[in-house]
Formats: sequence, structure tokens, C-alpha cells
Amino acid sequence: MTLALDARRRAMLAEMGLGGLDALPLLVTPPSAAPAEPMVAPAAREVAVMPAPVVKPRGGSAVITSEALTTPVALMEWDALAQAVAQCRACRLCTGRHNTVFGVGDRQADWLIVGEAPGEQEDLQGEPFVGQAGKLLDNMLRALGLQRQHKVYIANVLKCRPPGNRNPEPDEVAQCEPFLRRQVELLRPKIILAMGRFAVQSLLATNEPIGRLRGRVHQYQGVPLVVTYHPAYLLRNLPEKAKAWADLCLARERMESQAA
Ligand code: URA
Repeated sequence: MTLALDARRRAMLAEMGLGGLDALPLLVTPPSAAPAEPMVAPAAREVAVMPAPVVKPRGGSAVITSEALTTPVALMEWDALAQAVAQCRACRLCTGRHNTVFGVGDRQADWLIVGEAPGEQEDLQGEPFVGQAGKLLDNMLRALGLQRQHKVYIANVLKCRPPGNRNPEPDEVAQCEPFLRRQVELLRPKIILAMGRFAVQSLLATNEPIGRLRGRVHQYQGVPLVVTYHPAYLLRNLPEKAKAWADLCLARERMESQAA
């Protein structure tokens, strides 16, 4: 590795708080390395088709287009989809929310980051990953030379906050799943980075732990998907950041290996 590249790599690791873990040649693939082939062929495992959520309008002043009321989620364009999410009352989570959290970023994104569900700050602000975990996510993106509004889109499995940040219930995930599925169809990103157990297990329709799914490229709706730990988990388990960095490098190698 040249001195310049070495310096770049150090800077990236420092961004992720991995400055003290510079000697990670086996865990960390430098960005300059030749792209490695995915270790497995695409699994092509699809999430079971869920019924589209029933989108019932809240009696309020919001203007609801007829498209958002009558079009199946699977056929909605961006604006109708966002409106359907904003008006959704398909599960109990609608009762406690301040805002739905649709997703944010570039609708021409190469990268789709998928987290679990809004937390307190996200519920208040209506935007994903704006709390402490979001700061780490921003640093992780910066380490890859990315930022959340450019070529990156960020969304969650659930669009409403579970009370007290409890784990999502299976029926809540099932009700919300068509929204994320449609976001993926509209985005057609080059890579999906699934962060944390709920995102990973719901997108891959599996109960396997993250540790057994890392290190290879999966598929969701024909889009390559790489699995990694949730930033909130990384904040509590700092040594795991090295693994997350390796996951990011794998995702980038897979993303860059695709034709523009
Ligand atoms: N954790 C998530 O999974 N998503 C958010 O938007 C915030 C925290």
C-alpha cells in the first residue's frame, strides 16, 4: 500500500473511531484492494409477500390524494407512498407517534441503509438516524466518502416508533414491510446495507444471527445486500467497530463492482 493510501485509510478508520485499531489487516480490507468476489452466489431469498397495509386516513386537515387512498402500495410512486406512510393506521404504533419516519436521502441513491425503527429523536423530527446512533452512522458514511443526502438513502423497517424503543413486534414488521419493499423498488440501489438484527432478519426472512450472515453478499429483490451491526449496538460494543468496518468495505467492493 502506498503512503498516501495508508494515510487515507488511517483517516477513514479515525472517522469511525477505529484510530487505535489501525493494525487490522485481516479484518479490514483497504479501500484500494482489488475487489473480492462475493463469497457466495446470491441467495435470492425473498421476503414472503405480505398483504399490503390498509391505509386508513386519519380524520384531520391533511390533504390526502385519491392515489394514496386507492393505489396498492406496490404500485405507488414516491409522493403517494410518502403520503400513505404519513396516514398509515395499520398497526398500534400509530397511536403513540409524533411523526412517521418515511426515510431521507437521494432518490437516485447507490446506497440504501436500512435500520430498525425510529427512536425518540427520530419520532420527534420525522427523520431517521438523527440521534447518537445517527452520528455514528454519519461517521461511518464519511469514512466511505459518503454523506446522507448524496447517493445515499436511509430508511427503517418500521416507520413509527415502538413505545419506549421496545423491539418491533412481528405483526408491526409485517404491516410495514410493503412500504420498505416499495422504497427498494423505486430506488433500485446498487447496494443495501442492513444494520442490526431486525433489519437483517426481516429483509432476509431468516432467524440467523448477524454473526452468521456477515462476510458475504445476500440479495433482496435482486439487490445485493450486506449485513452489519446496528450503530446503537456498536456504541455499546466498541471492539465490534472493526467488524463493521470490514462489512462496509465489503459493501463498497460489491457496489463498485457493478456497472454504472
Ligand atoms: N435506530 C434505527 O434503527 N433507526 C433510526 O432511525 C434511529 C435509530
